[in-house]
Amino acid sequence: MQPVIIIGTGIAGYSVAREFRKLDKETPLIILTEDDGCSYYKPVLSNALTSKKTPDTIPLADAQQMSVQLNADIRPFTPVAGCNPDDRTIVVGNETIAYQHLVFAVGADPIHVPIGGDAADRIFSVNNLTDYRRFRTTIEQARTIAVMGAGLIGCEFANDLPAAGIRVHVIDPAPFPLNRFLPERAARALQRRLSEIGVEWHLECVVKSVDHDDDRLRISLSDERAIEADAVLSAIGLRPRAQLAADCGLGVNRGIVVNPYLQTSDPNIYALGDCAEVEGLVLPFVMPIMHAARALAKTLAGEPTKVTYPAMPVVVKTTHYPVVVAPPKPGIEGDWEIHEKDDGIEALFYDREKTLQGFALTGSAVSQKNALAKALPPVLVP
Ligand SMILES: Cc1cc2nc3c(=O)[nH]c(=O)nc-3n(C[C@H](O)[C@H](O)[C@H](O)COP(=O)(O)OP(=O)(O)OC[C@H]3O[C@@H](n4cnc5c(N)ncnc54)[C@H](O)[C@@H]3O)c2cc1C
Repeated sequence: MQPVIIIGTGIAGYSVAREFRKLDKETPLIILTEDDGCSYYKPVLSNALTSKKTPDTIPLADAQQMSVQLNADIRPFTPVAGCNPDDRTIVVGNETIAYQHLVFAVGADPIHVPIGGDAADRIFSVNNLTDYRRFRTTIEQARTIAVMGAGLIGCEFANDLPAAGIRVHVIDPAPFPLNRFLPERAARALQRRLSEIGVEWHLECVVKSVDHDDDRLRISLSDERAIEADAVLSAIGLRPRAQLAADCGLGVNRGIVVNPYLQTSDPNIYALGDCAEVEGLVLPFVMPIMHAARALAKTLAGEPTKVTYPAMPVVVKTTHYPVVVAPPKPGIEGDWEIHEKDDGIEALFYDREKTLQGFALTGSAVSQKNALAKALPPVLVP
């Protein structure tokens, strides 16, 4: 029997493997990864200091333990270099391995923008445990860190780093944090709360260059000001990792294009997680992965199943001022209706027909999350 092969041991790869094994205990399963194959919950990386976790305590299981749990042949440090959909094989080093079904769960790459200066190569991004280990070693000596990007991950690090006594500067071209997710009033409340723990905001500007300045870094901004810091963290977004799929001749747009069965342009190859574009949606979050993994496992086990996405609010881990967002689908026209609560804001997004299409909750208003999520239309229906 030819194996099912999964490329990637992130939440997507391991979740689909786990769900598949609940349904099929026999089919050989090979899981390849270019990292060490340890299983960990990636969201913890941006609140590890607050939750008192270290790079050594974050892993839940190593590759060896996972291979026992999943009855799978897991091969760490094994980058897949290519695949041949016509004869259903993948290429790993000098080896060619045949598959019955192939699953891409290869994640996303941090976006890099051109930045000048003689220390531009010292800018960190954190998209996996190895990145975080390196970052954590650096910040042990740091007093000040500059964070590029006031999106979800930038704000979470800005919330977390002060737990180690670190002063944080956040730089973003938008006029307020989380501007893709929050209406201005809610965003300003978050901005104020994070200012109270020492976060300094440099909004409506970008980093022009990063230079060595004795043993520190000098970060020059587009508004002609400069900041001194010990390290720079870039959190300006991720791009689905789709090059390998494109090289194999699979359809690629923003991500690896898949239909509701998570099936690529080749009927025996599937994709899920941060690398996938499902019916035009690129949703780099845990909840969509869980729904996709359950549906794909059934398909791989012989029962073709479409993925469905209910409303999936995202909890932003800004513990100093809780935020939950369920943004409206792109392109929906409407307006925010904002209610100030005791110590929070409930912002409801209604379309022109007065149907609730999204929400943003801050502070005490986050308690409304479950009730409001039930009132939202599903994100993807069969
Ligand atoms: C700091 C941070 C905080 C986050 N917080 C939240 C949160 O609070 N809530 C939430 O919902 N989401 C959060 N996310 C997003 C969420 O963690 C991701 O959507 C999810 O972890 C992506 O999993 P994945 O398996 O698709 O990708 P990844 O975890 O990136 O896994 C990709 C895998 O593919 C392997 N790979 C890639 N290319 C190859 C190749 N050619 N050959 C072999 N192996 C390969 C890699 O080694 C890796 O094992 C956060 C993300 C970050 C970075």
